Amino acid sequence: LLVVFSTAAIHAQKLDKTYRNAGLPVEERVANLMSQMTLEEKVYQMCQYVGLEHMKAAESKISPEELEKNDALGFYPGMRSDDVARLTEAGKIGSFLHVVTPEEANKLQKLAQKSRLAIPLLIGIDAIHGNGLVNGSTIYPSPITQAATFDDALIKEGSKQTAAEMRANGMHWSFTPNIDVLRDPRWGRTGETYGEDPYLVGNMGIATITGLQGDDFTGAENVIACAKHLIAGSSSINGLNASPTDVSKRTLFEIFLPPYRRAVQEANVYSIMAAHNEVAGMPGHMDKFMMTDLMRDRWGFDGFYVSDWNDVSRIAIWHHVARDFKEAILFSVEAGMDMNMHGPLFDQYVIELVNEGKLPVDRVNEACEKILTAKFKLGLFENPFVDEQKAKAVNFSEAHQRNALEQSRKAITLLKNEKNTLPLSKSGNGKKIFITGPNADNQTTLGDWVSPQPEENVVTMFEGIKHLGEQNAYEVEFFDSGDRSKEITPANIKNAAAKAQDADYIVLVLGENSFRHDWSRKTTGENIDRATLKLSGNQLQLAEAMLELNKPVIVIYVSGSPIAEPQLEEQAAAVINTWEAGAFAGQATAEALFGDLNPGGKLPLTIPRSVGQLQMVYNHKPTAYIHKYNTEKKVPLHPFGFGLSYTSFKLGAPQLSKATFDSATDAVTVSVEVTNTGKLAGEEVVQVYVRDEVSSFTRPIKELKGYKRVSLEAGETKTVEIPLDADAFAFYDRDYNYVIEPGTFSIMTGNSSADKDLQKTSLEATQYLMLEKN
Ligand code: BGC
Repeated sequence: LLVVFSTAAIHAQKLDKTYRNAGLPVEERVANLMSQMTLEEKVYQMCQYVGLEHMKAAESKISPEELEKNDALGFYPGMRSDDVARLTEAGKIGSFLHVVTPEEANKLQKLAQKSRLAIPLLIGIDAIHGNGLVNGSTIYPSPITQAATFDDALIKEGSKQTAAEMRANGMHWSFTPNIDVLRDPRWGRTGETYGEDPYLVGNMGIATITGLQGDDFTGAENVIACAKHLIAGSSSINGLNASPTDVSKRTLFEIFLPPYRRAVQEANVYSIMAAHNEVAGMPGHMDKFMMTDLMRDRWGFDGFYVSDWNDVSRIAIWHHVARDFKEAILFSVEAGMDMNMHGPLFDQYVIELVNEGKLPVDRVNEACEKILTAKFKLGLFENPFVDEQKAKAVNFSEAHQRNALEQSRKAITLLKNEKNTLPLSKSGNGKKIFITGPNADNQTTLGDWVSPQPEENVVTMFEGIKHLGEQNAYEVEFFDSGDRSKEITPANIKNAAAKAQDADYIVLVLGENSFRHDWSRKTTGENIDRATLKLSGNQLQLAEAMLELNKPVIVIYVSGSPIAEPQLEEQAAAVINTWEAGAFAGQATAEALFGDLNPGGKLPLTIPRSVGQLQMVYNHKPTAYIHKYNTEKKVPLHPFGFGLSYTSFKLGAPQLSKATFDSATDAVTVSVEVTNTGKLAGEEVVQVYVRDEVSSFTRPIKELKGYKRVSLEAGETKTVEIPLDADAFAFYDRDYNYVIEPGTFSIMTGNSSADKDLQKTSLEATQYLMLEKN
């Protein structure tokens, strides 16, 4: 009764509009607004819904009867887009996701302006590599592809451009970066990650966050980033999405958590998304230790948590550790959850739980305060609307295209080049290049979280190769092999072989498909996990028919997941992994084929020979390969950090600026001399690995701690300097303090993680150093 009374009283008061004064500090504005909000209004800020158009599209596909009982699409029984519009108008929704046009964003903001407090909406979207769910935006390479560039600055610049495209379209919050450290490539979301190494993942995450958020997301072209998913869904016990993970606390701290710590401490990430999965029995959405004790209290996370899609309810429905949705909400919000993605009832139950004295109102206040702070900082109170015409000018603008193209170029990874098959000669003299394969002439290069894009904005592999091929006097012929198992029929394979008879080169564009235009064709992506790392469908049969023709076969992989086909690679003349190189994949790949581009991309993960070798990572513990398999090698198909070039490089031994590491603020510079010993200009990625030789807990045999990508003319020598700070030598002791133990560290430098590519020196840590106490 008391609460009802106070709500009425608040409503009766005249609104004090101090919070609308843009000249005041954000904290003051938040405090003023909150002092005038009812409990209910605060809780509504914690509620996120999916966009109206998205709902309408889904509604049009199901019958009204189905809709009444069905929540298969994540909607709720009986819930319609019209209901959501009414809730918005009543100020009962704080945030939306999957709003994909500026027109819809404006429409929703207009509705929200009608509510008592006129609090603007925070609109989130999965702008994972470009604002890809929006038609006509720039599609950058997918995260795994970006990681292959080993070029943080380039990725940061692209993220900054993505933020500008988002803001122009009325979106303020991107559910990226995915800083899950990938340990099991069966996971369909491999392409959304930056690979298997915590340091590289951390750097790419920081580049993305700082590109999106700027200093503190107060700029007109900044958006909020979202580090996801807390934690370790990239290492489920069976490789399946949302399935249990059961790693040790030590592995969490040493492998999975470092990118999160750095996202918070080095990049000030303002939101974190919890993971679908449980870890050792604890569902991510109610993990108080992770969300509050560790991230907030120990590491200083100052932003807000968002749930993943319907995952609060799944604490009850899937995990069975709460009796019902209401109890699930209690556990989740108590543990630190601030916003529910998505749907009704959440508000009602939170309000009830507070009124029943079960949920501390402080939690609601904290959540509301963080969310409002975001809205004020983003400038949404000043102007929640966007100029619908301007969006079109910002999307896919020239500078953005240039960055996307540059990312694709730098990511291209040459895995094999027998007898210098590549680059192809610049004078084709009418020689014939025959191209086929399921990824040769479509938008699979765009990767996941992208809707179909205008054809004129995308250069397919065939288009790129035909264009440059003809410029270099080749005849380029394409044959549509069809899509994997359904359509790569024996007849198609036979036809392809017949047409390739008179070819001089065969280009096979193979791989997997995470592009979401047609879910039935996807072979990787969220909830499409792989039980094998071999090529899906009849692709291998197609490849075999081509290899039988005894002509140079150039294999181009388009895939967010690694492909393990050792025999195919043995027989092919050249293999290029392009991952999912975005809108300009075809152009960048063609440039590599004809030598306008010298590949310099490196693998951000180990490519195993077979699924049976999993979990195979380069940074494994010392005893991982004491024994061998009875039927498989214990070496990978390709090691982490590997990638060839058309030129050759000679790397000198590592030199250290000092031979000891003496204090928490100490720094050592590793210098390596690199010479381009070949005849072409090229780029090399110098990598620094560290090993703690003797430690109180077992440590990996090597860990990446620094890298630098350098460009060298033929014959040129450069000295590359890479700094190492305390993070390069620290780990967690018995009590989970972050420490450096005295003793010897090996410092290894080279151009891949393989021992044969590394040279070694050593450094002495002279003191026991306590960097962070638990
Ligand atoms: C994914 C998230 C994503 C969300 C919203 C979920 O299924 O796990 O990564 O941000 O959907 O689209």
